[in-house]
Amino acid sequence: MPIFEYTCNQCKKDFEKLVFAGEDKNISCPNCTSKDVIKKMSATSFMGASMGKCATTFPKGAS
Ligand SMILES: [Zn+2]
Repeated sequence: MPIFEYTCNQCKKDFEKLVFAGEDKNISCPNCTSKDVIKKMSATSFMGASMGKCATTFPKGAS
C-alpha cells in the first residue's frame, strides 16, 4: 500500500498518509485539518521512512 509524505502549507508540518488510488485529492493535514498540503515525491521517502522512524523513536535525551 502506498504511503506518501506530505507537507502542510498551513502549519508546515510533515506527515505521512496511507493513500489509496483516487483519494490523493482529499488529503487533509492531521494537525490543522487544512487541505492545503503538498505531496513530497522524493524517492528518499522510501529509504528515509525506516531511518526516519528510528530517528524519531530514538530518545532525544541520550546525549
Ligand atoms: Zn497543517
